[in-house]
Amino acid sequence: MQIYMDGEFVPKEEAKISVFDHGLLYGDGVFEGIRCYAGKVFRLTEHLDRLYESAKTIMLQISLSHQEMQKAVLNTLRANKLKDAYIRLVITRGEGDLGLDPGKCKKSRVIIIADKIALYPRELYERGLEIITVPTRSIPAESLNPQVKSLNYLSNILAKIEAINEGAAEALMLNTEGYATECSGDNIFIFKRGRLLTPPTYLGALEGITRNIIMDLAKELGLEVGEGIFTRHELYNAEECFLTGTAAEIIPVVKADKRIIGSGKPGEVTRKLREAFTKLTAREGTPITS
Ligand code: PMP
Repeated sequence: MQIYMDGEFVPKEEAKISVFDHGLLYGDGVFEGIRCYAGKVFRLTEHLDRLYESAKTIMLQISLSHQEMQKAVLNTLRANKLKDAYIRLVITRGEGDLGLDPGKCKKSRVIIIADKIALYPRELYERGLEIITVPTRSIPAESLNPQVKSLNYLSNILAKIEAINEGAAEALMLNTEGYATECSGDNIFIFKRGRLLTPPTYLGALEGITRNIIMDLAKELGLEVGEGIFTRHELYNAEECFLTGTAAEIIPVVKADKRIIGSGKPGEVTRKLREAFTKLTAREGTPITS
């Protein structure tokens, strides 16, 4: 495996960074997760836009232009001879001293990893998964805006630990007022009486690229879809529920806090949206060869 590190390709075993890098010391940096389907990178521009927006907000200068970054992503896929892959782009603040001041870090680092990913076992996409609400709440936007996809994922990791400790595959996080926000690494949707809802991002959710695509696809399918505030009660009494994310794609949820959702099987709307999504990923994308 060849890892892109600041303009060079190095074997995985040699891809190392300084222990003084603030990405390691403080989680000071930003990242993106992107997928490549059959030799075409899906929604590359959107992912890079989000990366540069996250970096701007935390005043992190990325040494590559948008165009150069796009090339670097495509080159990394080529260097690893991958056509179906998950790409992880990591920008760290770079090497500094032991203090917090990012001004001491002279140059940010660009790391690109291309690999395979299987977030959940295949059968869970057919059977549906179980989620639970966890004690760890989403970080309020006034503390750290959820649109900043930062290297600081500890609250999400705590949520994941809490879910796994209870035997559930995924954690639903609430905001401090008790409204559903998102899962540890995915957005959430519920469907009832013809309406598809996902929490507004200002409650404390990332504006997922898959989430936005699903909203567009739902409209095309003639569904009523929008952002809407909901609590656990609406989740328990939904007809269908599913999660969306670049790595997870679209995965049905059939149980939440031990309450069976709808029929207890993945629903028709979820199935249709998954199908439409798969077709879209086969149709669109930036070719690796471009
Ligand atoms: N929420 C969180 C916290 C995430 O980390 C992710 C995955 N990056 C998502 C939602 C889904 O976003 P996307 O569809 O852009 O991958």
